[in-house]
Amino acid sequence: MKVAIVGGGYAGIATAIELHKLKSGTTVTLFDGRDRHQKITQWHKLARGEEPAKYEIEFRELADRFNFRFVHKTINVAALLKNPIAELGGNFDAVVVAQGSHSPVQPAGVVTLDALRDDVNEKNRVKNLRNRHVSVIGGGPTGVQFAFEFAARGNKVDLYEARDRLLPTFDHSLGQTALKAAAAHGIEVKLLTEFLRFENGTVSGKSGDHHVTGEADYVLFVPGVRSTPAFTCDVYGRVEGLVAPRFAAGTRSSAQQTEGYPTQQKFYAAGDNSYFSGRGLNTKSAQAAVRKGQHVARTLVADAKGLPPKDYTYPELGYFVSLGPKNAVGYLLSQKTAFSGPAALFMKEAIEKQYNLYLAGLNVYP
Ligand SMILES: Cc1cc2nc3c(=O)[nH]c(=O)nc-3n(C[C@H](O)[C@H](O)[C@H](O)COP(=O)(O)OP(=O)(O)OC[C@H]3O[C@@H](n4cnc5c(N)ncnc54)[C@H](O)[C@@H]3O)c2cc1C
Repeated sequence: MKVAIVGGGYAGIATAIELHKLKSGTTVTLFDGRDRHQKITQWHKLARGEEPAKYEIEFRELADRFNFRFVHKTINVAALLKNPIAELGGNFDAVVVAQGSHSPVQPAGVVTLDALRDDVNEKNRVKNLRNRHVSVIGGGPTGVQFAFEFAARGNKVDLYEARDRLLPTFDHSLGQTALKAAAAHGIEVKLLTEFLRFENGTVSGKSGDHHVTGEADYVLFVPGVRSTPAFTCDVYGRVEGLVAPRFAAGTRSSAQQTEGYPTQQKFYAAGDNSYFSGRGLNTKSAQAAVRKGQHVARTLVADAKGLPPKDYTYPELGYFVSLGPKNAVGYLLSQKTAFSGPAALFMKEAIEKQYNLYLAGLNVYP
């Protein structure tokens, strides 16, 4: 069986590794617009002054290790859905789409996550940012992790969040812990404040009916990511439909949000751009991306052998957000058990090490 994987992030790489591990006899070709796999969950450490190379690994190296072919190419996903053979330059028995997510908009003057992933000047700038006035837009895990790193390097940091708390997609207790730690690190958190623009060194926002302004030398814009297109899948990871573009930023909650699936090809999806039916974890997270990638590989092999695949049932095991180089907050199993301090930091680092080992060829996932 010839399998094409579009996107070599956490999901795409997990699919390739699992297919290799299963000794499935499949021939795998992985397409990515970048030449290196990025361990993006550690990207905030660039603001710690660390080298991006520490968190990247060449696809060619992974291809040798896990026996796949790497093609350095950005795939036009809309064209892929209409005519996979033309877009992939050949015929494949199955296609796994795992192109992840991207910054939804690019306001003038600010730095988005996409720019930080690709622009070498931006990577260097964030790495060397010290004793400046920095604004971070977005109080989710990405914004919080960057804000604490900036503060630890002597920057004055303002953190803007449109909702009424930090880490708003988690239990209240995590946001409270982050808020207290932010105060201790001199980070000014502006809750219920919507970013409008950044012009001539001034950040403009709106808080209720009030106009809010603040000065900044540098603005990092990370209020969330979008996946377009995003795919609805069955409980095995086979694509059933496309999420209507207006819903692609959030979590699909009903079948009405799905648009028709335009092609008869054998498509599968995994990662941030996929919503599996059933009770397995569907968050936009590396944890879900790895598990979905592994699951799709198993489904592919079962489908090829004409065997019934298994349901995707992976439950969330926990989540940790670093609060600078010396602290973190998170939970194991239940969000009601949130904790911070050295134990949380240890867990955060252990999760990253687990992924490093996985890329090295040692599967230590339970
Ligand atoms: C700073 C930061 C910290 C985070 N921390 C955590 C954390 O602690 N825990 C956690 O679980 N999650 C975390 N996340 C979220 C996590 O990184 C994402 O959910 C995860 O990367 C999704 O994996 P993915 O494979 O779907 O997408 P990605 O990892 O983004 O990979 C997508 C890949 O597809 C490629 N690609 C995109 N478009 C195309 C195309 N058209 N053609 C070919 N290739 C394409 C890209 O180059 C990329 O290699 C964090 C994210 C950030 C930004």
